[in-house]
Amino acid sequence: PVKARGGDDIAFFQPGMLATTQRELELEQALADALDGGDIQVVYQPQWDLASGRMVGMEALARWEHPERGAISPAEFVPLAERSGLINRLGDSVLEQVLTQLREWEAAGYAIPPMGVAVNISPRQFAALDWEAGIHERLRRFGVAGDRLKLEVTESLLMENLATAADKLARLRAEGICFALDDFGTGYSSLAYLQELPLDYVKIDRSFVQRIGDGDAGEGIIEAVLAMASHLGLDVIAEGVETEAQADFLRSRNCDAGQGFLWARPLPPAEVAALLP
Ligand code: C2E
Ligand code: MG
Ligand code: MG
Ligand code: MG
Repeated sequence: PVKARGGDDIAFFQPGMLATTQRELELEQALADALDGGDIQVVYQPQWDLASGRMVGMEALARWEHPERGAISPAEFVPLAERSGLINRLGDSVLEQVLTQLREWEAAGYAIPPMGVAVNISPRQFAALDWEAGIHERLRRFGVAGDRLKLEVTESLLMENLATAADKLARLRAEGICFALDDFGTGYSSLAYLQELPLDYVKIDRSFVQRIGDGDAGEGIIEAVLAMASHLGLDVIAEGVETEAQADFLRSRNCDAGQGFLWARPLPPAEVAALLP
């Protein structure tokens, strides 16, 4: 490179950046096409009550099978959708698929588990001016009760004015929708913040669950989260549970629910329906 970074910290264009931009643009176009073509599908990962072993809910997760590249991880395409503004279309597509599915399951006589179906909402979606109205409108259009729906939000909600965010949550909660704080512990949450927001659940991030048994601070963090959640009247869902030892630890600490490969991977609708009562 001619000069990577000058003393004044001016970034110069480099060959690698062109490749990145090119791939990003291609992928962005492909994602737009996938949304047009209905190629973004939803899978459902069950959530289990740790005491009774009953399925209590499930999380809807987006899947994209690219015609040439094969499966592309949401860890790649969700941030891309956020950067490019496609996140609103992606979010609408996922929500509409979930509401369609809920309506079908109910019509077929399946009992929807008490915690309902969780849909992930990214910060830019949440901040969009018409997002909240879109939720109210779709619940009515699809004829699904709000209490079948759970929305998973992240701490980056803080990017929005806290009072505005809290008001939005409160209005949606009045429709019966409940809220989970996802990836807890990985961001900037403070107790004060948690107290300000009308939440129902906290999800312990997989990175902490993985550290169970390590004998380091990981277990202490989980115990602290459980104590704090119980104090605030929030239920706790642990994610990424892969071993019996992790499940035993969580159960012994009275964690409410778990989700992870130990019990089930994210499943296509027909397979998850087979688990419903
Ligand atoms: P998340 O919301 O924290 O979802 C949990 C992730 O952990 C999922 O990854 C799930 O497949 C994975 N997981 C669950 N149990 C286990 C386990 O036992 N072991 C391991 N190794 N992984 C486990 P996935 O489906 O790849 O999604 C990644 C992230 O992409 C999600 O993290 C979420 O932030 C985002 N995402 C996925 N679908 C959507 C969507 O429809 N909308 C938005 N806004 N974000 C989405
Ligand atoms: Mg989630
Ligand atoms: Mg999570
Ligand atoms: Mg995560």
